[in-house]
Amino acid sequence: MTPDERVYAYSAVLMGSPILLKLFEHNETLASNVFRLIKLQENKLTVNRQQSEVMSVNHAAGNHAVAVSKPVFDLISRAKAVSVQENSSFNFTIGPLVKRWKIGFSGNTVPAATDLQALLKITDPHDVILDEGTQSVFLHKTGMEIDLGAIAKGYIADVVRDFLLEQQVTQALINLGGNVQTLGAGAEGAWAIGLKKPFSDPESLIGVINVTNKSVVTSGIYERYFELDGQRYHHILDPKTGYPLDNELLSVTIISDDSIDGDIYTTLLYGMGVKKSLRYLQNVPHIEAVFVTKDQQIICSSQRQFTFTPLDTEYHITG
Ligand code: FAD
Ligand code: MG
Ligand code: MG
Repeated sequence: MTPDERVYAYSAVLMGSPILLKLFEHNETLASNVFRLIKLQENKLTVNRQQSEVMSVNHAAGNHAVAVSKPVFDLISRAKAVSVQENSSFNFTIGPLVKRWKIGFSGNTVPAATDLQALLKITDPHDVILDEGTQSVFLHKTGMEIDLGAIAKGYIADVVRDFLLEQQVTQALINLGGNVQTLGAGAEGAWAIGLKKPFSDPESLIGVINVTNKSVVTSGIYERYFELDGQRYHHILDPKTGYPLDNELLSVTIISDDSIDGDIYTTLLYGMGVKKSLRYLQNVPHIEAVFVTKDQQIICSSQRQFTFTPLDTEYHITG
């Protein structure tokens, strides 16, 4: 048996994303329990259907507070804490703008500048009132909408990891559409997580990130976007302007223990750009990053938690 033949892969489509689970045993029951768990979380957190815990908060915006379950309350609290940081480009109240642009969904449009200006007025994270005692969430202004798209996949990846650990699984990988969490090592030592070549076919990689027991999350501008009149519009929005964030970056990958951190920091650092991010990360030792820029540079932060192997000569490692 080659090392690869020991790995059993199970796939599904959930949260509008391809989901991949790798196990070291043939275990359909475990795989379907994992997918059921993801579905359960999706049903609580989605904003793409009318019914979910998050949507019940959104439906009551400007009207009344809504009590939610403890895990959802904690997730919303974490999202608020990151969103209210000074100059944060992570903003979980960006929902009205996301719904207006519809990037990645049918009917995507470039909204009128006046529309965006109006919607920006209902995207202040300070207007989310949290009450710890009753575990309730109140969106202060009518029309406000929470969107956990930049944090929920990371959170769910950690829920899956914890579930697998409870089931005594010590080696596994879960990939929630670019949001990877790993347990233990892969078949041949560390897990090899491919870094996709931007705007290329899905098989092409610019490098491989090797990790053991870590999360690897990538967020880029080349997965969900649309083009109009020669202009590309991607799905990470600038909370200050309402337009897609525009800087030198194609993608940010975060290597960390918890995937929720990976998901948060991909979005946060994307907005900061390379220079500021590298400085910022000097004070956050548990978070490491790989940046890919539009001029085809690959920049790694400190590499205590991973190794990087380049695979494409068009891209150059710098920094
Ligand atoms: P990230 O960079 O981590 O986050 C970008 C996403 O966060 C955007 O898509 C937007 O939703 C939001 N966002 C944009 N700008 C900001 C900002 N500045 N700050 C904070 N958040 C921002 N996709 C489908 O096509 N169909 C579905 O039915 C569907 N259901 C989903 C259900 C759940 C529970 C989740 C978590 C996701 C679902 N998705 C679905 C995918 C979702 O729409 C996002 O595209 C996805 O979460 C983006 O993840 P990412 O890691 O690629 O991007
Ligand atoms: Mg994400
Ligand atoms: Mg994110």
